[in-house]
Amino acid sequence: MKFEELPLETSLQRAIKAVGYETPTPIQEKAIPPLLEGHDLLGIAQTGTGKTAAFALPILQQLLVSGKVREPKCVRALVLLPTRELAIQVEDCFQKYGQYTSISTACVFGGVSDVPQKKALLRGVDVLVATPGRLLDLINQKVVSLRKLEFFVLDEADRMLDMGFIHDIRKVVAMLPPVRQNLFFSATMPADITKLAAQILRPHPIRIEVTPASTPIERITQTLYRIEKKRKGALLRALLMQNPDMTKVLVFSRTKHGANHIVEALEKAGITCAAIHGNKSQTRRQEALGNFKCEIIRVLVATDIAARGIDVDDVSHVFNFDLPEVPETYVHRIGRTARAGKGGSAVAFCCDEELDELKAIERLIRTRIPEGDPAILANLPADAPRGPQGRPQSRPPSRPQGRAQGRSQGYSQGRPQGSPQGRAQGRNGAPERRERSVSSSSEQPQQQQNSEQRPATPKTASGERPGSRARKRFWDKFRPKSEG
Ligand code: AMP
Repeated sequence: MKFEELPLETSLQRAIKAVGYETPTPIQEKAIPPLLEGHDLLGIAQTGTGKTAAFALPILQQLLVSGKVREPKCVRALVLLPTRELAIQVEDCFQKYGQYTSISTACVFGGVSDVPQKKALLRGVDVLVATPGRLLDLINQKVVSLRKLEFFVLDEADRMLDMGFIHDIRKVVAMLPPVRQNLFFSATMPADITKLAAQILRPHPIRIEVTPASTPIERITQTLYRIEKKRKGALLRALLMQNPDMTKVLVFSRTKHGANHIVEALEKAGITCAAIHGNKSQTRRQEALGNFKCEIIRVLVATDIAARGIDVDDVSHVFNFDLPEVPETYVHRIGRTARAGKGGSAVAFCCDEELDELKAIERLIRTRIPEGDPAILANLPADAPRGPQGRPQSRPPSRPQGRAQGRSQGYSQGRPQGSPQGRAQGRNGAPERRERSVSSSSEQPQQQQNSEQRPATPKTASGERPGSRARKRFWDKFRPKSEG
């Protein structure tokens, strides 16, 4: 089936062409026609199936053709979801698909000032993408009202429950008008999710269940290294140094502190990297993610929670620096590579304490993960001796000259310039030391990592701090947008 065969408006068909989609994914093919007819939907699907377009396109179409208009402080369609990163991505999709329409969108989430969000909501928006806490906050402040809502989407319901949002969801649902179209998405359907879906959806919703386009695991080259815990860092560095084809590398750490230590060690080796986890400010998380997406940094170190809902294309390698306690998590993690029909590689490090986890993973995937070249282990340099807190005793070398210049290539400094020059050295096998780190030192306490508290940068002749204009552009991108 081609997109042209779906009964979508010309403006939406044009946008679909502009984003380069030709064939609807299975969930799009199955969901779009009944949604256009006004049915409720229960979608059992995860990220990577194309579910966002499956709900965004029919909502946009109905908003366009209904003949209704938005009212001040009112919202016509609400997408409620668990994380800020996902909220930004979903709003981005609505904007892409609605680029040839006059539909307005806004995105609200916590951890940032609510002032621009309030401003965006003042005149009303057609589509609001929101995380529950901030939405309830704004409703309580009477900045926004759901009384005119026509469409309600609950996305990643299982994750929302995992993250403890059930009470917030109930509060939001209680405010919705009784006549509305409901779309409910969850990757899994345990009993509590089934119960919640029944409370939100009208009787007899359309039920669509899809698995990702292909089981990615078959397209992923998996490798295992059995290695002592304290030598894992050295092995990661050695692999990154020796393999310029490891271009876009996602490293999973079990803990936030572990993620910080990995980044610290990679920085010392001159490998561009950043960590993304719950202790990082929203600004730093967006900066790290943006830099990773456009390949200004080569390595993103993440915890599972922080990585949820993040959709990054073309991840070349996924490292399980620590094996996850739940074997299914291993499959989710490595599924970050080999997206969109492409191949990918996954590397797992296993120390003696993780043998049970390894067994559980191999049982789940019904495969023995092949072991990597033992030569690399034999030639591994010894790790720096650890201090009493498990930190290296030697201080990291002072920042390379020209760090400011390195940062100026960063996402937070305006339009990402993932130019070949900016990242060529590591790829081409030239000394990795020449790469500059974009991440802050992980030994800094959390509050010192917030951009607001970074040491003051000298002002330029114009009286502006270097990068402040670019930082504004960054915030312009992530600030809620509306037509009016
Ligand atoms: P989602 O599951 O909505 O997060 O989408 C996963 C990825 O698939 C995103 O990068 C989308 O841009 C992409 N995508 C969605 N629908 C299509 C399509 N019909 N053809 C090609 N790519 C698509």
